[in-house]
Amino acid sequence: MSKAFASQADLADKKITFEQLSAHCWAYTAEGDPNSGVVIGERSILVSDATATPAMAQDLIAKIRTISDKPIQYVLLTHYHAVRVLGASAFKAEGASDIIASQGTYELIAERGAADMKSEMERFPRLFRGADSVPGLTWPTLIVGDGKPGRQGSLKIDLGGVVVEIWYPGSGHTRGDTIAWVEAEKVLFSGDLVEYEAGVYTGDAQLEEWPATLEALRSLQATAIVPGRGEAMKGAANVDKALDYTKRWVEILYRCGKEAVVKKLDLKGAMAHTRQHMDPVFGHVFIYEHCLPFDVSRAFDEASGIKNPRIWTAERDQEMWASLQS
Ligand SMILES: [Zn+2]
Repeated sequence: MSKAFASQADLADKKITFEQLSAHCWAYTAEGDPNSGVVIGERSILVSDATATPAMAQDLIAKIRTISDKPIQYVLLTHYHAVRVLGASAFKAEGASDIIASQGTYELIAERGAADMKSEMERFPRLFRGADSVPGLTWPTLIVGDGKPGRQGSLKIDLGGVVVEIWYPGSGHTRGDTIAWVEAEKVLFSGDLVEYEAGVYTGDAQLEEWPATLEALRSLQATAIVPGRGEAMKGAANVDKALDYTKRWVEILYRCGKEAVVKKLDLKGAMAHTRQHMDPVFGHVFIYEHCLPFDVSRAFDEASGIKNPRIWTAERDQEMWASLQS
C-alpha cells in the first residue's frame, strides 16, 4: 500500500486552543499541530515559536491582541525547524526587536536552514499556506549561551512583573533545542523536546542524549508544560506523563535502531523491526506515519555511528519515502 508523502494528505484544519496556564503564561495549541507559547508581561510579550509562515502567525497575533496591546518584543526560536521559525517576520510589525536562539540553532540555520525550508514546505502543505509571505530564512538577533548545555549560560528577560529564563538544556530533538521557563509560575515551554500524544519527529535528533535532557527538564518540577505538539499539560503528574511519553518513544525507537544494526538489517529491515515495537504503542497518534520513516532513518544512522544527522533535502525525503512507505 502506498501512503501519501509525509503530511500531504492532511488538509483538514485543526481546532486552535488559546489557554491561560498561569498569571502570565498562555498556550496556543492545535490538536497535534505545532504549538506556540506566550508570556505576557506589563511591559512586553515573548512568543515561543513563531509558526510556519507570517500568514499563519496572524492568527496567533490576533489571539494575543484579545488580551494585551503591549509590544511582542521577543520571539524565541526553540530550534531551527521551518514550521517553528519562518513566521517570525510577522511579529516585527507587532514590536519584535529580538529573535532569540541558541548557538546550536544559529549554526544549524546556517548549515541546513535553506534545505530544511524546502523539505518542510513539501512535507506540510497545510502548515505552509501563505508560504509566499515568507521573506526567507529567519536569522536570530540574540544568541543564548556558548553552545554548552546547562542553565549557567541562561538569558533572563524581565517582561514586567514576570521573568522568563531561556537556555539550552542539552540536545534531543536537535542539537540546539532551547527552552523557556517561568520559574515563579513553574511553567515550561519545551519546544519539540517534549511532545504528547502526537508523533515525535526525530529525523534530526540526537537520540542517545535526548533521555538525559528530558531528565534535566523533569528536575525543574514544572506544574504546566507547553509541549511542541499536543495539548498543554497541567499539574505535575501530567507534566511527567508528557516527559514519559516522549522518553518512551525515543528509547524504543533508538533501541530498535541499535538492534537492527547488530542484526545487520538494511534500512527496510530496520523499519519492519521498529514497526513491531512502535506500532502497538504509538500507531494511533497524530502524524505517526509521517514521522516514523524519518525517525527510523535517523535511529539507524545514529546507531551506525553517524553523530551529525544527515541533512534532509526535498529529494532525499522522496527517495526515503519511496523506499520505506510505498
Ligand atoms: Zn521540530
